[in-house]
Amino acid sequence: MIELKGISRTYDTGKVQVPALRNITLSIAAGEFVAIMGHSGSGKSTLLNILGFLDKPDSGSYRFLGREITEFKDDYLSNLRNYIAGFVFQQFHLLPRMTALENTELPLIYAGKKYLIDTARGMIGEVGLSHREEHYSNELSGGEQQRVAIARSMVNEPLMILADEPTGNLDTASGREILSLLRDLNDNGKTVIMVTHEKEIARHARRIIRMRDGEIISDKVYERRGSKRIAPRHVPDEVFSRSGPTFGKAELGDFIRQAVGSIFSHKLRSILSMLGILIGVTAVISMLAIGQGAKEAISERLSSLGSNLLIIRPGSFRSHGVALESGMVTRLSLQDAKAIEKLDEIAGVSASVRGIGQLVFGNRNWRSRIEGVEVEYENVKSSTPVTGRFFTERETRMREKVAVVGMTVVRELFDGTDPVGRIMKINRINFKVIGVLPGRGGWGWRDRDDIVVIPITTAMYRLLGKEYIDSIDAEVKSPELMDRAKETIRELIIKRNRLTEDNEDSFHIMDMTEFKDAVQSTTRTMSWLLGSVAAISLLVGGIGIMNIMLVTVKERTREIGLRKAIGARRKDILIQFLIESIFLTFWGGVCGILLGVGISLLLSGLAGWPTKISVFSVMLATLFSVMVGLCFGLWPAIQASRLKPVEALRYE
Ligand code: ADP
Ligand code: MG
Repeated sequence: MIELKGISRTYDTGKVQVPALRNITLSIAAGEFVAIMGHSGSGKSTLLNILGFLDKPDSGSYRFLGREITEFKDDYLSNLRNYIAGFVFQQFHLLPRMTALENTELPLIYAGKKYLIDTARGMIGEVGLSHREEHYSNELSGGEQQRVAIARSMVNEPLMILADEPTGNLDTASGREILSLLRDLNDNGKTVIMVTHEKEIARHARRIIRMRDGEIISDKVYERRGSKRIAPRHVPDEVFSRSGPTFGKAELGDFIRQAVGSIFSHKLRSILSMLGILIGVTAVISMLAIGQGAKEAISERLSSLGSNLLIIRPGSFRSHGVALESGMVTRLSLQDAKAIEKLDEIAGVSASVRGIGQLVFGNRNWRSRIEGVEVEYENVKSSTPVTGRFFTERETRMREKVAVVGMTVVRELFDGTDPVGRIMKINRINFKVIGVLPGRGGWGWRDRDDIVVIPITTAMYRLLGKEYIDSIDAEVKSPELMDRAKETIRELIIKRNRLTEDNEDSFHIMDMTEFKDAVQSTTRTMSWLLGSVAAISLLVGGIGIMNIMLVTVKERTREIGLRKAIGARRKDILIQFLIESIFLTFWGGVCGILLGVGISLLLSGLAGWPTKISVFSVMLATLFSVMVGLCFGLWPAIQASRLKPVEALRYE
């Protein structure tokens, strides 16, 4: 079955070259029970690893069932380890956090035969541990662990069992049990190759090979009484000609279980590493919700305004009222408004002034916005009072002290009772309430019902002491006349105020398209800002994940070695660790989404901000968290998949 010819293996430790095997020639037939003996460091383990496809020789030929193994690629060797070899190690190498049964079925998972779980149960029964199969491996005694390891090595019906000092870490009684198990296996036709340095133990074998300094110094055959030889099981060709089964659902399920297990076994660490992603996603979700809400509120407002509206304001548009003091500002007067109204292109004009007023009624106090407007306001701003009436042209001319109040004022100042006909004080001046404005709802973080509307003349000359107006809304007769109207109004104001070229932009005329542009550019800036916040936090989160995964891979080097020893291919290991990192970021993302949604709901519930959570942003956040897991988990996963099984198993 096995033919070695001139096998050599030298370890290169950087400084020195350690020749572990020198020119080994050896053949082993099916059904043999071979013990390899020798002092520590004589090359026994190295030989066993080469026999079991775990390691490759530097030179020489290894033929197994007539095939040249030294030419096999790594993943093909994994497949051979899975189907042909069963390993038993001195250190048992059971995976913690897994039950005896789960440990036993591991080779089946890599063989794509998870459905053979009953075989795993049967194997545990054969090593006499049926009553312990649901116990975690670290709850078992050393002898029991080694018996589980034997069950694991047997579960995939290998041709040979390779045992490296299987009794080395056990007491005499447990050691004896393990040996009798190995003997039973051999009696049933399995080839057993065992490394040991105890004569007592070697006595159980049929053949003893002695080694010294990497060479075989003796090779003797002893026939045990009552032993029989059985022909080896037939091995299908495909075992040698493929790198293993395709990736299956059972394997995926196992990996996800593994990922959950390892995440839960390091709870604090997992939570901390998820935090970066969580915070990033929370920020993005809640800020997007606020941005989207504000945008929708604004565009709703804009579409309710006419498309042929021009707004004329003092100060230049670019200054946004910030740098007004440095430049010159054209003051607009009521006469300007009247003059504009007379233009051919203009259908109507509504001038307004604004201020803040302290309202008093009975023993109640309230601060509110005061808006001084003309009678056209009622129609232009669809503000026909729900009770009472709007003020008249005459009242405006006479500067009457009458007021129309918003819903919030009714609630706060009049305790929700009908205020029409009552007298309240605005900045200590008595005003008669004549109507209540219809409710408008909130817009952004501004309550549009918290308002008192009074005649513009009263506001200017009696209440706010302003000689100029704050803005003029001009309605153009038709949309086609917009540009011309703008130009004529401009010329008119320049002429009336005798403006020179230097201060021509000391006032500005806005139409709705400009307003929309302004809103859009603000939204765009906000999106960019959000985007960079998201990118930075996800980057930071991703680096955190990468760091944790690198630590995890280091910590679990021996587990990776074991998995490879029983047949895991590179991609199996790669996928396992990728799933783990994606799992972390995915759940970080999900928690972030929940938190973000919670914060948005809280903001709209408590502060009255309009927020809107779009399905798109939720999907985007999920996608991004998965992508972060994938991208930043890839490097650690590749590192894990590239580990050499022998070195990984030796890792301390
Ligand atoms: P045994 O199992 O008989 O004790 P090994 O086969 O483990 O011996 O080792 C043979 C020699 O090779 C020893 O000198 C050992 O130090 C060396 N050796 C084994 N594995 C490595 C390795 N991965 N790197 C460097 N030297 C090694
Ligand atoms: Mg050894």
